[in-house]
Amino acid sequence: MTRTVYVNGEYLPEAEAKVSIFDRGFLMADAVYEVTSVLDGKLIDFEGHAVRLKRSLDELQMAEPCTKDELLEIHRKLVEVNEIDEGLVYLQVSRGSDGDRDFVFPSAETKPTLVLFTQNKPGLADSPAAQKGAKIISIEDIRWGRRDIKTTQLLYPSMGKMMAKAAGCDDAWMIEDGHVTEGTSNNAYFVKNGKIVTRPLSNEILHGITRKAVLRMAAEAQMEVEERLFTIDEAKEADEAFTTSASAFVMPVVEIDGVALGDGTPGPIAKRLREIYLDESRKAAI
Ligand code: PMP
Repeated sequence: MTRTVYVNGEYLPEAEAKVSIFDRGFLMADAVYEVTSVLDGKLIDFEGHAVRLKRSLDELQMAEPCTKDELLEIHRKLVEVNEIDEGLVYLQVSRGSDGDRDFVFPSAETKPTLVLFTQNKPGLADSPAAQKGAKIISIEDIRWGRRDIKTTQLLYPSMGKMMAKAAGCDDAWMIEDGHVTEGTSNNAYFVKNGKIVTRPLSNEILHGITRKAVLRMAAEAQMEVEERLFTIDEAKEADEAFTTSASAFVMPVVEIDGVALGDGTPGPIAKRLREIYLDESRKAAI
């Protein structure tokens, strides 16, 4: 089946979808994005993604391409026509183009470029990777200073994943000024003596939609949570660790820089939070 994608008001077979070579998303990574998971053919936390998209656009003085209701409708239609039961919807808004390359933003009349496509991921929720747990390495965080804006500047996170792969691992956590910021595409946590520790929100990390939901669910389940800076050495000495993201939910971490956590298998709190998150998210999906 040919994938149907959405570009600026049109639903098209993927091979026919086109964006200008002058688009600032292409030339300058002047674009923001969201990735929404699909379980049972329904969208997980669409509201959270819509709110963060609006914030990213506002921070960059970029126009909204359409209303929230229209966005929801596009998401739903793509899920339907592409017959996605488990998978993702990728959305990108760029500042568009007025037909040339210039550092100065184009005029206010320039229309943003809106692109959405689906990714079919059968077995997303019941993932073997989550059963095994992830091995991570630590790397320096050399990204720009506005990581709270979800831009498409993903070259360094992509290089980080490749460094992890080269080391025989699954992912990397990044370190700045001696403290862990976040994973290449997820927020980072460790658990010590039953207490969950994660870095507080700031411009240094992405304000994860899954982070927000998981911290709420942890509090509801009477788990103790502390938001503070932490070092990679603290994480290595932890009982367990995990990451959160919209596309991998709660992912246990079993090894950091070659040091096994606990008995080297996914920890009980990460497993429990994954269960609660999947369960509650499915119930609230739209
Ligand atoms: N941090 C970074 C750098 C990310 O790329 C992501 C994934 N988009 C996250 C955290 C997790 O955010 P969310 O839970 O909203 O997917």
